[in-house]
Amino acid sequence: MSKKKEFHEATEKEHWADNIAKKIVADKGELEEYTVAAGITPSGVVHIGNFREIITVDLIAKALRKIGKKVRFIYSWDDYDVFRKIPANFPNKEVLEKYLCQPIVDVPDPFEKHTSFAEHNEKEVEEQLPNLGIFPEFLYQAKKYRAREYSEGIKTAILNRKKIKELLDAWRKEPLAEEWSPVRVFCEKCNTDKTKILDYPSEYELKYSCECGFEDTFDFRKKGIAKLQWRVDWPMRWSFEKVQFEPSGKEHSSDGGSNTTASEISKQIWEYSAPYHIMYEFISIKGTGGKMSSSKGNTIDLNEMLSIYEPSIIRNLFVRTIPSKSFEISFDSDVISIYDSFDKLERSYFGEEEINENLKTSVAIAERECDGINITTTEEMQEATDFVLGIKTLTKSVKAEKEKITKPLNESLKGVRALFKPFEEKLKYVLDTTNNKIVDFSNKLEEEMSVDEEVKITNIKSAHGTMTFRKVKDIEIVDVNIIPRAYMVPDMVLIRKHVVAGAKIDGVILVEKKIPSLRA
Ligand SMILES: [Zn+2]
Repeated sequence: MSKKKEFHEATEKEHWADNIAKKIVADKGELEEYTVAAGITPSGVVHIGNFREIITVDLIAKALRKIGKKVRFIYSWDDYDVFRKIPANFPNKEVLEKYLCQPIVDVPDPFEKHTSFAEHNEKEVEEQLPNLGIFPEFLYQAKKYRAREYSEGIKTAILNRKKIKELLDAWRKEPLAEEWSPVRVFCEKCNTDKTKILDYPSEYELKYSCECGFEDTFDFRKKGIAKLQWRVDWPMRWSFEKVQFEPSGKEHSSDGGSNTTASEISKQIWEYSAPYHIMYEFISIKGTGGKMSSSKGNTIDLNEMLSIYEPSIIRNLFVRTIPSKSFEISFDSDVISIYDSFDKLERSYFGEEEINENLKTSVAIAERECDGINITTTEEMQEATDFVLGIKTLTKSVKAEKEKITKPLNESLKGVRALFKPFEEKLKYVLDTTNNKIVDFSNKLEEEMSVDEEVKITNIKSAHGTMTFRKVKDIEIVDVNIIPRAYMVPDMVLIRKHVVAGAKIDGVILVEKKIPSLRA
C-alpha cells in the first residue's frame, strides 16, 4: 500500500508560517510570550521588498497565536541611523545635503508634510499597515537612544570591544582598525557623526573629538548622543527586547553577513541565544529585472501597490510564496490574471470550488485505494485496518478545513443572534399578549351576540389594517383503542427494550448485526 503513505503525507502538508511557528516553539521552548521582530532604517521610501519582512513576521505572529501562544510583534524604526545618502526620488536635495552625517530623525521632511524625513517615510507605512490587517508595536530607536535606555548595552559593548572586534575580524579580509570602537558619537555641537573616540575615561564615559573642532568628555547615561554601530546595535537589542524570531533579507543573511556576526556577538557578549532566523528573498517588478532597490529607482511602495491591488490580494501574494523564494510583481496584463486566481481562491474559500488541493488529492487516492481493497487473508485485513486509521486522520483534516471557515462564521452568527434575541423575545411577548386580549374580547362578543351577527365581527378594521379571525379545524383523540391500525406507529424504543430483555412480542424477532469499530 504505497499510496497510503502518499495520502498521509498530503494531509500533513502545512503552510510555511505554521511550520516556522512550530520550529520557533521547538527551538525556544515554551514561553509565556514570544517576541517577534522586524525593522528598517527609514532612509528612503519603504518599498514593497522591505514590506516582505513586515508581512513575513506578521504571518508568523498570527501562526503562533493560532497555536495558542501570546505574541508581541515589534517593528523598529532605526531612525537614529546616520543619514548617508540622499535618495534619488526626493525633492529639495540642497536642503537635505546640509543634514548628511546627522541622525535621520533630525533631517527635515523635503515634502514639508511631516516633522522629519524619518517620520515622512515611517508614516507612509504606518498609515497603510492597518489596511492590510497588520498592527505591530512601533519602536523608535532615536527616542530610545536619546532616553538612554541602552546605556547598559553600550557599556557592555565598550567593555568587550576587543572581543567584538575579534568576532567581526574573523569574517573580514582586512581587520578593523586598532582603535575601532563599537560606539559612535553624534557631536554635541554640529550633530554629525564626523567624530572620533579618543578615550574611555570610565565605564560610562566617552571622550571624543569632532571634525568641526569640538572636543568633549561625557557620561552616556546623561547624554543620549552615543549609538552602537549596526553590527553591535542589532544583537544588543535582541537581548534587550528578548526577541525570539527575526528574519532578515538576503543581504544580511550570507555567511559572515550581519546576521552571522550578530548571532555570535549576541551569544558571546550578551549571553543571549540569537532569535530563530529565516532569510527572505527579494521581490522584483516584472520587466524591470532584478532586485528592487531605492538607488536604482525600480521600486514600488505600499501606497502605489494599494492603488493597483486590493489589500487582500497583496496579502495573498506574500502568503502563497515561501519567504525563501523570490517572486515578481506584475503591473501589466498579469494584474487581471492575478485577480482571477485570487477570485478563484476566494470562491474556493466559500466552498464553491475544491477547497484544498491536498485534501482533493488525498481523498481521490483514498477512493482508489478503497476500490482495490480485497480481503482474503489476515494480513490483508490488517492492512485494511491501517487504511481505516488513515481515513480517520483524513476525516479529521476535512473537518479541520471545514471548521476553519465555519468556526469564525458561527462565532459571528452567535454574536448576531445574541444581539437580536432580547428584541425578538420582547416582541413575541407583546404580540402574544395582545393577540390573547383580542381573542378574549372576540370570544366575549361571540357569546353575547346572536348567530346572525357573528359573521359581521370576523373582520375588525383599524387605522393600520384589518384583523381577521380565521376558523381552523383541529382534532382531539377521545378513545385511542378504537382508532384503526393504519394510523398507529410502533414504539421502537419500548419494543427494542423489551425484546432485547427477552420478551416475545408478536411480529417482532431478535437479530444480531456486526458493526466494525476501531479506536485510534
Ligand atoms: Zn562637530
